[in-house]
Amino acid sequence: MFRAIIFFDLDSTLVINPFGRRVMPKVYEEVSKTLGISVDRVLEIFTKKHMEKVRVGDPRAYDWDYILSEMFIENGVKPRENIFLEELHRVCSSVEVLDNAPRVLERLRDMGFYLVLSTNGFWKYQECVVREAGLLQYFREISSPDKKGCLKSSSCFYTTSINGPIKISVGDNIVFDVYYPKKYGLKAIHVRRSVSIGEEYARILGIDLSKIEPDATVTSLTQVHDAIESIISGSRKHS
Ligand SMILES: [Mg+2]
Repeated sequence: MFRAIIFFDLDSTLVINPFGRRVMPKVYEEVSKTLGISVDRVLEIFTKKHMEKVRVGDPRAYDWDYILSEMFIENGVKPRENIFLEELHRVCSSVEVLDNAPRVLERLRDMGFYLVLSTNGFWKYQECVVREAGLLQYFREISSPDKKGCLKSSSCFYTTSINGPIKISVGDNIVFDVYYPKKYGLKAIHVRRSVSIGEEYARILGIDLSKIEPDATVTSLTQVHDAIESIISGSRKHS
């Protein structure tokens, strides 16, 4: 029997993914040359397509190569497949691990927690990142849009193959890791990082940020275990 099912977000929670820093700028540059438009314009079109899909809950919001192929087709250019994926595979090993994440996950696993990797990123992109970061072995399940067929904004994302006494989400995004998990009955630990990324999503999804209350807030993964224990003992008292 597991003590709790813990959903761990990946990007900016456990790791800094090279995707945003190294892959996206390079691909935008390439696309700008191919289509003869500025990099800013590429970014603008790309973001608009991404956000529109997030708004309607389309999992392909995070299939970057799909979005790119849409852009190419609309501009009368024959799309080349897997541009993002190939670029990512070149730089995957430069992933940066945060707060000694492997040790934190190992300890939680050994203490009887069932760990689920919970990411809006497609598994086809995240797999090499998780592997290179040395985190894959700690997760019993992967929840991603290409595996579940939905985003973190949908209840289907939080189904697991076992039932636990309690499900807890851990992540840095106030919308996807706190608001939605709580909406679907999970508890939520907000990992507050220096860069906050929830605001834009809250706006397009019509969510009032001031009403979102995490069950705990931490600034480092080293504080997650204590936060989990206090949520578990708190929920026992109330049941
Ligand atoms: Mg994140």
